[in-house]
Amino acid sequence: MLKRFVKSTLITGGLETARIVKMAGLMKAARGRGAIFTLHHVRPKQDRAFDPNAHLEVTPQFLDTAIATLKREGYRFIALEDLAEALGSDDPAPLAVFTLDDGYRNNLEHAAPVFTRHGVPFTVFATRGFIERSHGLWWETLADFLEANDRIAFDFGNAPETVPTDTGARKQAAFDRFADYVNGRDEAEAVAAIDAAARAAGIEPLTITEKLTLDADGLKTLIANPLASLGAHTVSHRMLARLSDDAARSELENSSAAIEAITGRQPKTLAYPYGFSWAVSERDRLLARELGLTIAVTTQPGTLFAGQELTALPRISLNGHFQKAAYVGALASGIPFRMMRTG
Ligand SMILES: [Zn+2]
Repeated sequence: MLKRFVKSTLITGGLETARIVKMAGLMKAARGRGAIFTLHHVRPKQDRAFDPNAHLEVTPQFLDTAIATLKREGYRFIALEDLAEALGSDDPAPLAVFTLDDGYRNNLEHAAPVFTRHGVPFTVFATRGFIERSHGLWWETLADFLEANDRIAFDFGNAPETVPTDTGARKQAAFDRFADYVNGRDEAEAVAAIDAAARAAGIEPLTITEKLTLDADGLKTLIANPLASLGAHTVSHRMLARLSDDAARSELENSSAAIEAITGRQPKTLAYPYGFSWAVSERDRLLARELGLTIAVTTQPGTLFAGQELTALPRISLNGHFQKAAYVGALASGIPFRMMRTG
């Protein structure tokens, strides 16, 4: 999931500034050695009355445009696993690395054909609990739950209450409140409470998991494509930094084992769930390295440079709200984010 706290207006402001900077010819210096891109859903736009996860979704056409734009700007496309070697090479071309989180079915159906047409490698980070249909995706469960109901009953920790969700704004406010609730308490307990509330309203979280994500057979089909690789994305998709040492280790070990069962070899790559700065600790980076997950990506925005810490790599999200060719080069440069951080 993408950092939902990033304000669209700030991004837009940054992008407009970035285009001016580009005209001044500074873009090339700013883009460093290239960028790792984050995608989630890649599918034709669906019309939804309430769509709180729209930023996590781009169309196949936009992915095609993004790749074409990067090609025109001279980027070299490599697999994430080859990053260390590529960063050490003398080739001056900036690098572009594509990654897709969570293991959605549409990655096989809609993204793989675009990558194949362009000969671009890509890595899918699959979540064991989704592969095995043992865990829900709470942000998807909530989207369906809130879309279908004009009011919901929930206990956020004070007392049972009825929350009005009869308008788009109220549904979004409830969604944000649930996101804070998940962030603010034991994540497994919070998600279990959301799942129970959804079930009481006739929405089955594990049916959503099955509808949206690839199982082991689907992932095997995906990696029959020589451009595709699989990486680990934990078992339960909880923030690692908030888990005990044993729980964090078990999340990484058991997710690696699930990927190995599918591919026949131990994965080398990992995407930390959520990937925000507070979702990943130094302990988690050490654990990843210890378990052979030598290349690990966050969702903290930034570009690539030589000598970078390979178990805390920044990524740039291709965001569903900004599906224009003009944004791709600007995003890849990292300029908008640098301006956001200082502004
Ligand atoms: Zn994820």
